[in-house]
Amino acid sequence: MTTLLFVEHGNGQIKDGTLKALAAAKQIGAPIHALVLGTGSRAVAEAVGRFDGIDKVLNAEDGVYDHDLAEPVSALIAAVAEPYDAIIASASTTGKNVLPRVAALLDVAQISDIIKVVSPDTFERPIYAGNAIQAVQAPAGKKVITVRTAAFKAAEEGGAAAPVEAVSASASAPGGSSFKGEEIAKSDRPELAAARIVVSGGRSLGSSEKFKALIEPLADTLGAAVGASRAAVDAGYAPNDWQVGQTGKVVAPDLYVAVGISGAIQHLAGMKDSKVIVAINKDEDAPIFQVADYGIVGDLFQAVPEFQAEVAKAKGL
Ligand code: FAD
Repeated sequence: MTTLLFVEHGNGQIKDGTLKALAAAKQIGAPIHALVLGTGSRAVAEAVGRFDGIDKVLNAEDGVYDHDLAEPVSALIAAVAEPYDAIIASASTTGKNVLPRVAALLDVAQISDIIKVVSPDTFERPIYAGNAIQAVQAPAGKKVITVRTAAFKAAEEGGAAAPVEAVSASASAPGGSSFKGEEIAKSDRPELAAARIVVSGGRSLGSSEKFKALIEPLADTLGAAVGASRAAVDAGYAPNDWQVGQTGKVVAPDLYVAVGISGAIQHLAGMKDSKVIVAINKDEDAPIFQVADYGIVGDLFQAVPEFQAEVAKAKGL
């Protein structure tokens, strides 16, 4: 029994989601091989090899894999899949793009978005927007698994460096999609999916200017990432990749501050596992208060600046 971990990386860094998928892979209990792809990725492959639990790293330094396009990456994974019982990746945008193709190529059903490894072939995953937890037992054969990263703690470095073995690109990497360009949002704030603190704003902010003027300074004072409800994103107050919820990012920070967010079930699906939830809402019956540990019933336009001033004072800023 061996598990293959698909590694996502950028700017020479292993993505946090991959380290969480590694934590899940370790719970399966089999030796783990990692797959690192892309031009100049040897250093990342060596870094991955230093993580506890990794026994070997497969590395293809080929430009065809540079942007994690689903067709060539899944073709390569399927080509090297023979010795592996499980193929695992984080349920990131890339993982959700690549692994279903791998499952199709291997003719198995994917086990998506696991939150717990019960045994090497049984996993728990949320259904109905997180309202029920389903235990799924995989049939014999290969398992293709994506991991809900909010449910696992990132694996840590440790142990002896694992050997890196070169694998070659598939002779005919299939086309389908091609890379045209990317716009990467630059921010000094922590990444939303991995942040310890998240401050999210809702529709009630009323405009992108007010969102920027209230939510972002509070986030910066707390050292937090910024999130938003879907209504705020749809209204253009916040960019798409800030959306928290069923159709956005799933986060589980130490502290989640929901500002003017009603707490619709689809929003809760993305944040209810946060350790401490603070809600600011003028409606004391808003459903967000059912999951909140602390609540301020009041007008956010008054409460947020006051809250921020108190945080700044406490931090000596
Ligand atoms: P509202 O529901 O309009 O709530 C605004 C809140 O602000 C109210 O509670 C109000 O009391 C409060 N408020 C107003 N003024 C003030 C003030 N001055 N001070 C303090 N409080 C104030 N939503 C998501 O967030 N994420 C998702 O991923 C998501 N996915 C969805 C998927 C599907 C298939 C569907 C159908 C819906 C999805 N939604 C999602 C939408 C979701 O149902 C809600 O419509 C949305 O979350 C509401 O956003 P909101 O809380 O900002 O707005």
